[in-house]
Amino acid sequence: MKKITIAVDGFSSCGKSTLAKAIAVELDYGYVDTGAMYRATTLYFLRNKIDLKNNEEVQNALCHVNISFKSLEGKNCTFLNDENVEEEIREMEVSNWVSPVATISSVRRAMVAQQREMGKEKGVVMDGRDIGTVVFPDAELKIFLTANMEIRAQRRYDELISKGQKVKRSEIATNLSERDRIDSTREDSPLRKADDAIEIDNSNLTKEEQMELALKLIQEKMSLQV
Ligand code: C5P
Repeated sequence: MKKITIAVDGFSSCGKSTLAKAIAVELDYGYVDTGAMYRATTLYFLRNKIDLKNNEEVQNALCHVNISFKSLEGKNCTFLNDENVEEEIREMEVSNWVSPVATISSVRRAMVAQQREMGKEKGVVMDGRDIGTVVFPDAELKIFLTANMEIRAQRRYDELISKGQKVKRSEIATNLSERDRIDSTREDSPLRKADDAIEIDNSNLTKEEQMELALKLIQEKMSLQV
């Protein structure tokens, strides 16, 4: 069977990675969490106190950011310069800075180049904000996920609490809407649904129902492949 490229885009905390990972397991495809790449870059900038307004400083810093993924005990982990930063990149400080960092064009260029390299052989599910519009505009299947804000905030709150983080629900909701605002209004590669993406609102869907819908779409697209 010919392999395809699957793009899963959408707003913050819509369950993109849950769906993308499940599809990758089901199809035995690679999975790339592009948000984790922007988060790891942000962590490097925070640790090294990079001035986001100083282009030269940002460019130089990018030369020292090496991101990779490894599966450890069945869990996808993000590595920054060979250090496992999977937990740290999900903390509030990174969440509060990642969208401003992701508006910087040189950062986007560096991330997009790596993402295209990772997906060049197809057989990949990539989730993010600009996968269907910029990274792989020719992806055979593009899914655009949405869900209502209350549900998204509750899901993210439950996830962080279960990891032992001390967070307030109001702080999460503010972070999600602020990221959505910055991501949708930035000049370079704003978050938007690609014209040929299929929108799934999963506010009232279980993970299984969502997966069933996605698998139907995948079968349709695959049957079109020669
Ligand atoms: O997917 P996640 O919520 O972890 O992404 C964190 C942030 O990274 C997003 O809010 C957005 O600012 C940025 N991002 C992006 N383009 C992508 C993936 C993530 O700008 N393809």
